[in-house]
Amino acid sequence: MTDSTRLRIAIQKSGRLSKDCQDLLKQLGVKLELREQRLIAHATNMPIDVLRVRDDDIPGLVMDGVCDLGIVGENVLVEAQAERARQSLPSDVNKLAKLDFGYCRLALAWPQELGAQSKQWFEGKRIATTYPEILSQYLARENIKASVVMLTGSVEVAPRAGLADAICDLVSTGATLEANGLMQGETILESNACLIQNPALQDDAKLSLINKLLPRLRGVKQAKESKYIMLHAPKARLDEICALLPGTGQPTVLALAGSEELVALHMVSSETLFWETMESLKTLGASSILVMPIEKMME
Ligand code: ATP
Ligand code: MG
Repeated sequence: MTDSTRLRIAIQKSGRLSKDCQDLLKQLGVKLELREQRLIAHATNMPIDVLRVRDDDIPGLVMDGVCDLGIVGENVLVEAQAERARQSLPSDVNKLAKLDFGYCRLALAWPQELGAQSKQWFEGKRIATTYPEILSQYLARENIKASVVMLTGSVEVAPRAGLADAICDLVSTGATLEANGLMQGETILESNACLIQNPALQDDAKLSLINKLLPRLRGVKQAKESKYIMLHAPKARLDEICALLPGTGQPTVLALAGSEELVALHMVSSETLFWETMESLKTLGASSILVMPIEKMME
């Protein structure tokens, strides 16, 4: 059963973004009943339905208003936008947030044995890719005339299989390219997962639910980047110790039971404490130094 009053979010069913998407929804406080084979998962505590689909379908579902929100890689989004614009289909989305997962880059690569090559080498060559629109735009920008061979999978084997001279594919560590004897060249797009919204969405209840989720999303992001730092410090060296602590916040200074010389210092820092800083703090007389993760934040 589907209910059009419930906010619909499209996420990848199974693949590189699935676990991070599910974790994110959980961190936003969305309780989901996920059953492996089900296309739709209903939230039990909010009017939200999660559609689990192939990542390639997510931009279209959001652009056509079938789903209100979607989480998808920028690579897939940019490709779909260009393709749909060419077909005169709706291609607009509101990008609500860039998320901190799904990082990868779309890069050119060619057989290692050819050694380093300049852009001119691509002139007249065949390049295999799953991202023909992004690649064609790049080639037009760079004024390179090459033919684009569209492959939906196993792009990295194309040169060896004689299907193409070079490839344009997603890379995160470069291990796949190396394993296939390919040398990495220019990055033509850097990508992260992002949260997108149908720009025509007007339903007040849905919009206010989104406005409730967005500060939570910022809170989750901020909490991930922040640490709670606690330590004991000699009163006499407080200024020197504070000067070593990262972040802009003022620390809380608390009395320590039974000690005249020492105080406890607590602070939320926008970054972690490196071992070197902890060692310098210790040299100044700090002790019991704790660096703890923060689960949620609201300012
Ligand atoms: P689906 O069956 O949903 O179509 P898929 O095989 O197209 O899945 P995945 O390989 O799961 O997709 O990748 C999903 C997204 O993860 C990519 O579009 C990209 O945004 C991101 N990603 C992050 N790192 C990589 C990587 N090393 N290779 C490919 N994609 C990556
Ligand atoms: Mg896909």
